[in-house]
Amino acid sequence: MRSARTIAADVRSRACSAEDEVRAALARAHAAQEHTNAFVTIDDRGALEAARAVDRAVGDGRDPGPLAGVPIAVKDNLCVAGVRTTAGAAVLREHRSPFEATAVARLRAAGAVVIATTNLDAFGMGSSTEFADAGPVRSPLHPERVTGGSSGGSAAAVAAGVVPLALGTDTGGSVRQPAAFCGVLGIKPTYGRVSRYGLVAYGSSLDQVGVLTLDAEDAATALALMAGADPFDATSAARPAAEVGPLPVAQDLSALAPSLRVAVVPELFTRGVAAGVRSAVERVVERLREAGATIEERSVPEVAHAVATYYVIATAEASSNLARFDGSVYGVRVGADGDGQTLVSRRSRARGLGPEVRRRVLLGSFVLSAGAFDAYFGRAARVRRLIAEALERALDGVDMLIAPTAPTVAWPLGERLDDPLAVYLGDVATCLANLAGLPALSLPAGPAEDGLPAGAQLIGRAWSERRLLDVAGALGPYAAPSAARPDAP
Ligand code: GLN
Repeated sequence: MRSARTIAADVRSRACSAEDEVRAALARAHAAQEHTNAFVTIDDRGALEAARAVDRAVGDGRDPGPLAGVPIAVKDNLCVAGVRTTAGAAVLREHRSPFEATAVARLRAAGAVVIATTNLDAFGMGSSTEFADAGPVRSPLHPERVTGGSSGGSAAAVAAGVVPLALGTDTGGSVRQPAAFCGVLGIKPTYGRVSRYGLVAYGSSLDQVGVLTLDAEDAATALALMAGADPFDATSAARPAAEVGPLPVAQDLSALAPSLRVAVVPELFTRGVAAGVRSAVERVVERLREAGATIEERSVPEVAHAVATYYVIATAEASSNLARFDGSVYGVRVGADGDGQTLVSRRSRARGLGPEVRRRVLLGSFVLSAGAFDAYFGRAARVRRLIAEALERALDGVDMLIAPTAPTVAWPLGERLDDPLAVYLGDVATCLANLAGLPALSLPAGPAEDGLPAGAQLIGRAWSERRLLDVAGALGPYAAPSAARPDAP
């Protein structure tokens, strides 16, 4: 798979046409769909039309943009004009948004061509892309393993070599954990760096749009294009996109490392972390140390409360955001007007919302209820602040924290369907960055258990995406993800 910037350079110089690039990517998407189920919609017609428009611009001498003709895939909870947006949920199975997400619109304005939307856990609620209305996604690296989630379709699309770049969203780790499971790079920017307009909301104070790529340079390119204030999202920040650029990102580890201070968070290397994952991330730490980086240890005991805090806040916000799916305005409606709103809501929700979504709406409604608010939501909001302050202290005087992205490699399909708690606990290292609004990325750390990849997570101070991407760039190039030895029964 050529990088996004190589494809764009070739299209701009007429070494190849956008139409040929997109046609080839569509063929790869259909082939990958057979064994991964990574996509919800593959938009052959719309993609070819968009590609021809890029070729016309090149032919007319107009600037086709820095991502000219680059085929991309977009998580199906980001609205794409002309394509349905299901958010992975039955309730929105046929939903077509009248507007487009800002992140998507900005990439398209730069010449990128959306060839497909990618499969996800309904509303982004999950860590394996098994709670998807369109059915589970299988890892391109192993036919019996999950991709991680909830952006599992996007991770699979990049890992399978269908597209060099895919958009994901990350509320508690949904870009970084599937990136780790599929051996690709995924970055969640600082809260507010990228507009959330057009993203089907899960936990609004946690959600961010992120990107999955094969290398840091492509991630930086896309992020710089998506970044910046948006009048349609009051939480988008007026930080200059140039903070993420200018490109290229660093590539020479020995030149970068002497000025680099990295802190290991010991709590995230112990409890429940598989030995192979731990040693893969320790090897990354060793590479940094040998190249001249200063490595310290910073204990953050507050991480013990991160998962509980995250699941109270995320489900509370979800229960509020999902109240709109009551059969009256959006999506599935079961029943007649004469049945009354209560009955119609009840039936529509029963049909349109799956078991994991219902579990979370119930939990979220409970923690917000009058009798439980102080004990749960109020307390979680205070602990969230303590966690953010603890991370700020840990980051004082260092550039970034390092830890395993997830405690394990991708698990067998179906293995954890009946054990939500085990799955939730796996979010410990990723949800920290969302609770504190910090930028974080997962980079491929090489093979761990069963030949499957582990991810190393870097968490930076607010607005320090560029520093994280420089380190990820200098630690690369990364081998293209390759199939693990199938150990399936
Ligand atoms: N796994 C986490 C959850 O289920 C994170 C999901 C996400 O980031 N969207 O909430």
